[in-house]
Order: sequence, then C-alpha cells, then structure tokens
Amino acid sequence: MLTRRAVLGALTTLPLAPRAFAQARLSYDLTTKPLADGIWMVEGATDYFSMQNGGAIVNITLIKGDSGLILIDTGSSRRYGEALVTLARNLDIRGISAVVNTHHHPDHFFGNQVFADTPILALGETRQAALRDGDGFADNMYRLLGDWMRGTEVVPPSDVIAGGDLRLDGRDFLALPLGGHTEADLALLDRRTGTLIAGDLVFHDRAPTTPSADLPRWTASLEALEAQKPALILPGHGPADPTGAALTQTRDYLHWLEATLRNGAQSGLDMVELMETPLPDRFATMGAQPQEYQRSVAHLFPGVEREELPRGN
Ligand SMILES: [Zn+2]
Repeated sequence: MLTRRAVLGALTTLPLAPRAFAQARLSYDLTTKPLADGIWMVEGATDYFSMQNGGAIVNITLIKGDSGLILIDTGSSRRYGEALVTLARNLDIRGISAVVNTHHHPDHFFGNQVFADTPILALGETRQAALRDGDGFADNMYRLLGDWMRGTEVVPPSDVIAGGDLRLDGRDFLALPLGGHTEADLALLDRRTGTLIAGDLVFHDRAPTTPSADLPRWTASLEALEAQKPALILPGHGPADPTGAALTQTRDYLHWLEATLRNGAQSGLDMVELMETPLPDRFATMGAQPQEYQRSVAHLFPGVEREELPRGN
C-alpha cells in the first residue's frame, strides 16, 4: 500500500533524474556555414522541437554589414541567443549590428531578449502577432523544451519596417512583405549576392509547418519570391538551395496538402482516418514527417471540412 510519505517521496525524487540528464546537455553546439560574399547560415535540425535538440531547429542568417553582422532571426530561447552572440563574435569581433525577425513563430524570435540593446526589426503585423501570441507560445515552448528555456522572456521586435528598399548597416536589401505561412512573413533579398532569405515561406527537405497558415496566400507568396530569380535561397528550415528546388518543393507540398484535405472532406473521412493516410514517398522522406502532416490535418481540416459541407439553402 502506498503511504502518504511514499507518495510525497516519489513526487520529490522523480523529477530529479530527467532534470539532471537535461542539464548535462544544455549547450547548443552551433556552427556557421559560409554561403556567399559575407553571408553565413546556422543550419538547424530538420526535426520537431525536442529535449534532444533544445529547439535548435531553425536556420539563422548572419550577413556582414559596415559595422558588424546583421542577424536574421534569433532562435528559440535566451540560451540560443547567447550562443549566437558568441558565434557572431568569432566571425566578427564587432558582433551584431542589426537584428531582423522574419515572422512571429517562437523558434525565430525567442532569442530576442539577448539583443535588447540593438533595434530588432520586423513587419508591423509580426510585432502585433508577437505581442498577442508570445505568452501562449512561451507556455508551449517551456512544456516542450523544459530547462532549455530557463530565463527566456518574450521580447517582441522593437522597430517596424515596411516593404521595398531597405538599407541595414550599409548593406542593401529588398524587403518583401508577404504572408501565408503566418499573417506576416518577411523575406529579404540581398542586393549584393542575390541571396534570398526566405524565412518560413520556404522549407527544404523538411515538412512545412502550418499552425498559422493560409495556403492560397502562401502559394501566392511563393510566386512573388520566384519572380525575384534569386541566386541562392535560404529556407527557414532545411539546407540552402542554389537551384530553386526548395521553392518548387514547398509549393508542391502545399498543393498536395490542400488537395488531400479537400478530398478527405469530400469522401467523408474523419480526422484520424486522414492522419493515417500514407504520404507519397517524396513527402514521407522530409524531416519531421509524418508528425508535421498530422499536425497540419489537426490545424487545417476543421476549416476545410466546414467549407466542403453540403450547403443548405
Ligand atoms: Zn514559422
């Protein structure tokens, strides 16, 4: 029989083992890849958030400016932001001169607090969305990542930018204010190299995430990116792409996803049946599958089902 003391004892000792395990590994091992003239990428894991990867699943871009490095996206935690500071100083002793957030998902801006002395630029709607959703995202991230998140506070972007020509620390960009992955997705084209920092409008060999998605708008944004004829595409997740394959792959996946959800609704499948649908080989091999597809069904199927219901008069 369990005594009260045994229960209390179990409650106090059980959590210790996993915490000790996590603490021993709480260090991001970030490295940079040189990609083009004065451009480096920190390439994230193509998995979902886990205690193993500590949320280091996102691509970060560092670009040489006149007085330091321009940082595009800040990662998933305070600790991740601190690792970026160290990494940046190893590339350029002057450190980081400007910060941009591509959109308001937590893996892209939860390192912001480390850069509170530097203007953090984003689209206005991204700033609003970060203010609105930040605390909810933080609850979820603490649940998924535990001690990796310790000390992380939500710091929304501080400065609003618009689309068009943008000069950051002496380097010229075209800012493309788009959307569809979220309500506001910023892509930046580096004028010097033709490198497109696409944020999460483009995924590469990693399943796109859709918790805030508007699929038709996202597809239209991909057209706008393609029209820029970039020399190199840096996706939000997955390897850099000099061929345009990542754009094509993202569009292919979004079309397939939408058709699959619609066909499912029309043939009367329920959510669980649809989640169990086997993925085509070209999508099954993407990182974070089939979990990301299943999450997409959960996010998007209720809306599609409502649209496909036979309408009465
Ligand atoms: Zn995202």
